[in-house]
Amino acid sequence: MSDKFTPPTVCPKCSGAMEAGIEFEQGLSQLSDDYVIQEKEPVRAYWQKTEAAKGKFLGREYDGVRRIGPRLAVVAYRCVECGYLETYAR
Ligand SMILES: [Zn+2]
Repeated sequence: MSDKFTPPTVCPKCSGAMEAGIEFEQGLSQLSDDYVIQEKEPVRAYWQKTEAAKGKFLGREYDGVRRIGPRLAVVAYRCVECGYLETYAR
């Protein structure tokens, strides 16, 4: 991992303070806030590169994308003033 990353501390929109967190959906919503989320938690948000691909469903071909490369966990920084989110996949 390169050391070019500097966590954002100031909001680019309103200059408010930024705080670190993660985005999540259904899976994590059902667990209590006391639950400790692992770095490789399967239900947290990930980013992955895609390439164009053809899929097949009920004998018909369709255009779509296929995921390739490493799955990177998404970390989001939120402005405490205006709510702006800045997301990173490291
Ligand atoms: Zn802001």
